[in-house]
Amino acid sequence: MADYNNKAYWENLVKMSLSRYFVMYALSQKPMHGYDISKWIGEVTKGCCCPTEGSLYPMLKEFEKGNYVTSETLLVSGRERKVYTLTDKGLETLTIGKEVWGSTADIIQSTMQYSKENLLLCPVCNSKTRTKAYMDTELLNFPLFCPKCKKETTVNVRQLKITVV
Ligand SMILES: [Zn+2]
Repeated sequence: MADYNNKAYWENLVKMSLSRYFVMYALSQKPMHGYDISKWIGEVTKGCCCPTEGSLYPMLKEFEKGNYVTSETLLVSGRERKVYTLTDKGLETLTIGKEVWGSTADIIQSTMQYSKENLLLCPVCNSKTRTKAYMDTELLNFPLFCPKCKKETTVNVRQLKITVV
């Protein structure tokens, strides 16, 4: 079973999920060979979405088979290299990927905003309490139920102590 408390687990998950997108994104900038693709993604994403060496070439092979990229062998600085070019179909795929990842990023961002704005300090026991009230009400005073001390208090918006996680 995966160790979900291990940061590397989440980082690998992101890498696995996003590297396909970024390979296509890299090739939308200009035709590149494998090593350049890795280097380019590494720089642009600070390494977070770079495909592993073992996954890049099978991925490119798959893209070529599906006609998302084409390849030709060229002489690059005196060495024969397979250079990949994104096709129109690949460009279309990239647009779809951009839309999906873009809206996912927005959702993640908004939930982080939400939890920041909704973590309040209970005035009775001073523990962190999650509430929706602050977002949902225009009231100056709103009820806050604290799950820890089980007391319901009234919080004045002007006295809010908002803690940031
Ligand atoms: Zn409390």
